[in-house]
Amino acid sequence: MICHHSRILIVGAGIAGLATYLALKLKGLNADIIEKHSQLSSEALGLLLTSNAVEASKELGIYAQLKEQAFIVNSIQYRDEKNRLLMDFSKNKHFPESAEFLSVHKAQILNSLADWLPENAIQFNLAIAEIKTKSQTTQVTFTNGERKDYDLVIAADGINSYVRQEFFKQSSLVDSGLYCTQLILPKPVTMLQANYFIGKGRAASLLPIDNNLLYCPFVFNQSLIKEHKQALPLINQLFGHFKGKLADVLRRIDSNSQLSPITPYKSLNMNSWVHHNTVLIGNAAHTLIPTQPQGAAIALEDSVVLADCLANCDNVPSALNSYQVRRFSRVKSVQMAGEQRLKAIQLSRSKVGQILVRNMMKFNGERRLKKDWAKLILAPA
Ligand SMILES: Cc1cc2nc3c(=O)[nH]c(=O)nc-3n(C[C@H](O)[C@H](O)[C@H](O)COP(=O)(O)OP(=O)(O)OC[C@H]3O[C@@H](n4cnc5c(N)ncnc54)[C@H](O)[C@@H]3O)c2cc1C
Repeated sequence: MICHHSRILIVGAGIAGLATYLALKLKGLNADIIEKHSQLSSEALGLLLTSNAVEASKELGIYAQLKEQAFIVNSIQYRDEKNRLLMDFSKNKHFPESAEFLSVHKAQILNSLADWLPENAIQFNLAIAEIKTKSQTTQVTFTNGERKDYDLVIAADGINSYVRQEFFKQSSLVDSGLYCTQLILPKPVTMLQANYFIGKGRAASLLPIDNNLLYCPFVFNQSLIKEHKQALPLINQLFGHFKGKLADVLRRIDSNSQLSPITPYKSLNMNSWVHHNTVLIGNAAHTLIPTQPQGAAIALEDSVVLADCLANCDNVPSALNSYQVRRFSRVKSVQMAGEQRLKAIQLSRSKVGQILVRNMMKFNGERRLKKDWAKLILAPA
């Protein structure tokens, strides 16, 4: 196959970039990989990996390592501000046959992937200074002044992708109206399942990510950011009246806690991820709302499918075409499911909307979530 002789560049050593490097290596393909920072991200981010992500981790050969460190999520309890149970979603009841749901620190996935890469494979502190399409190849000038021609550039450089901005001028990030802040705390020993709390235009989760750590993201509508622009006073104002486990956790957050800055969630919908011999993957190609939770899952799937297409096609353009055909409707359907969740959070801003969402979750939530997740976790990548 011609692709086996291709010179390939992966831009970005996040989940999408590292997974792609590994997936290519498993198919006998080599690539260069660059990362603009001096090390892998140590962002305080916890990730829930649903069965589709876990299946992808098996294909990449990192499943055993991930599972060893991860928390196994058997149940997700959804509660309202007064701590009343709206639904208790049992993974084993609804998806007994599918792979488990795991929750992990983002750094654990990155390290599990990076452990399989040859030493010094990732070129840190290196970015692209200029990128140009030539007739058959793409010419890349790096920030260290070096210049190279590539048969394929895989842009895994995240939501603010430089490559996307250079080659896909018409694409733009759109404000979703949702903001979030998050932190990781020591896990109380009594916290044995995942908890989601839904309030008026706001939501929070308490997600154990191993035996010792608890990941706590807080998500809220932009209209709620009025008096406080700093994360700590804002979450106290927005979530201070919540009861139960969330109240216990809030009491432990103070000015010494490492709350992340308040960040807007931006959405990106593109009609194509391919430009000549460049392809966008992961967050560079598509965004998914953080509460969904599918961004890392879809990035892992992207990498497995892209490597498969490259290993089985005669040339780069046909491989990229095949990749786009295989991935497009899948990603769109996941994004559409995310839009529904976004609408529910937006609807819950008003008193009436909040009652509607609450009742919908209480009386129909389990059935809807099962239907939603069945599409996500049982569909082929
Ligand atoms: C609050 C929150 C909660 C989330 N929860 C979940 C969840 O529970 N489950 C889930 O599946 N997903 C979740 N996600 C989504 C998930 O984190 C992302 O979708 C996933 O990490 C994206 O990976 P990526 O590799 O595409 O991008 P990134 O992680 O952004 O990686 C891009 C990499 O490229 C590097 N880079 C950027 N520009 C350049 C350049 N020019 N040159 C070289 N390198 C460059 C960056 O430094 C970075 O290392 C969540 C996201 C957020 C924000």
